[in-house]
Amino acid sequence: MSECLFCRIAAGEVPSERVYEDERVVVFRDINPKAAVHLLVIPREHIDSLEDLAPEHDALMGYMLRLLPKLAREQGLADGFRTIINTGPGGGQIIFHLHIHLLGGPGLPGF
Ligand code: 5GP
Ligand code: ZN
Repeated sequence: MSECLFCRIAAGEVPSERVYEDERVVVFRDINPKAAVHLLVIPREHIDSLEDLAPEHDALMGYMLRLLPKLAREQGLADGFRTIINTGPGGGQIIFHLHIHLLGGPGLPGF
């Protein structure tokens, strides 16, 4: 069994509120939402962070980025959305399984 929380969520060993999944990615609601809509988009493949991306991940990363506007629309975010990728302790990364935060909804503060 993996010790990585997000690998365990992807495997269904830890419950989450999934909103989308396919053979490459899993998308679920953040347990501590910072906005009306706060999703986490993760690859099924374990990658620690952006620091660990290799050329072989280019297609996967492009796929994840192109998925974001579709997910946002499905969540009712017609006006737009924010994405954040925290990288390393200095970037505020707590879970070392690469993930994209997708945030939106009324009252989203300025950045
Ligand atoms: P990071 O700071 O690593 O970019 O963000 C990690 C995110 O994962 C945080 O926003 C945190 O609320 C979320 N998170 C941590 N543990 C869990 C969990 O068990 N389930 C879900 N759904 N989200 C989690
Ligand atoms: Zn993992």
